[in-house]
Amino acid sequence: MDDFISGIHNYCDRWCERCVYTDRCRVFATDREDRQVAKSDPKWETSLEPITKTLQEAIKLLNKMAREKGIDLTKTDAGFEKERAEQKTAVEKHPLTKKSLAYLDLSRQWLEQGQVKSCMDMIFKEVELGKRTMQEGERDILRVRESLEVIRWYQHFIVAKSHRALMGKEGDYDKQLPEKERGYNGTAKITRIAIERSLQAWATLLGFFEEEESALFRVMAALQQVQEQLAQTFPNMDLFVRPGFDE
Ligand code: SF4
Repeated sequence: MDDFISGIHNYCDRWCERCVYTDRCRVFATDREDRQVAKSDPKWETSLEPITKTLQEAIKLLNKMAREKGIDLTKTDAGFEKERAEQKTAVEKHPLTKKSLAYLDLSRQWLEQGQVKSCMDMIFKEVELGKRTMQEGERDILRVRESLEVIRWYQHFIVAKSHRALMGKEGDYDKQLPEKERGYNGTAKITRIAIERSLQAWATLLGFFEEEESALFRVMAALQQVQEQLAQTFPNMDLFVRPGFDE
């Protein structure tokens, strides 16, 4: 009998380096096994074996889910294909998708402008000139780096998870379950957490980039719009208890 928490990896932020549940997560254990094999066999990463293994596991999982939902995967169902295509179109047009993509664009543009490097250079310069102590300089550099790491980690995550939550909401499966057990609410909940952490990180950056205040406010406003739209679309997301994290 293992000690894994069932489904924990479905509602986490995939930031395994910072996760306190690595020893209770099956996905992490599988990845670690792969990494260990890769270390001992240099050809492993370029061979097809890891892909085949992952694919086999995915097929096993898919078959299990299909059995649970009474779906026969051997049949192609034209009605199902059509329904799926309609769901995809509805999700693409949804304001949450548009707003999360707008945030991604705006945040990416700002990060690519090179302001971060000038800010870091300025901090180093001030340490050299004695305007800041070495400890203050190190502390500030760490705060900027940490904020950037958080922002970058969640930039695409917010778009991908919003999309996944909307697809779940458009589908029929979750509708049979009570609100607190609907998977899309769990996905929306981790999206909300990612947004909150990102907003906090942007707010920290504001303290270091005074001349960029209006640009940063624009990025934060775009993210707040995603936050509002998410809350409007998934009003019951907080009813969902994420395995491990919320128990
Ligand atoms: S639950 Fe933790 S260890 Fe598992 S995939 Fe998520 S972040 Fe990684």
